[in-house]
Amino acid sequence: MLATVLTHINTSAPWLIPLWGAIFGAVFGSFINCARTRIPAGQSLRHPPSQCDNCKRRLTFIDLIPIFSHLFLSGKCRTCGAQIGSISLIIEVLCASLGASVLFCITRLL
Ligand SMILES: [Zn+2]
Repeated sequence: MLATVLTHINTSAPWLIPLWGAIFGAVFGSFINCARTRIPAGQSLRHPPSQCDNCKRRLTFIDLIPIFSHLFLSGKCRTCGAQIGSISLIIEVLCASLGASVLFCITRLL
């Protein structure tokens, strides 16, 4: 059943499954960014909500979209203008690329 659905999607819109992989990968990369800063500091992954390291403003939905937020905000905090490290962007792009590649390869096997 699942293979049939995936095969149908793969023939009608072959770019769609790798796009899902890229989106999932970017979100996973964003989680890795959260974990790599919070776990060494002994902080919870859930609390406090994401905030600017400089001005402590709580980040909104528009600030948290992986890759796009970094690009639209030019790598700076929307409130105080503090520079956000580019390592976050690099990790999100790498994870998005990995997700797209993995699902692209899987669709080739169907
Ligand atoms: Zn700030």
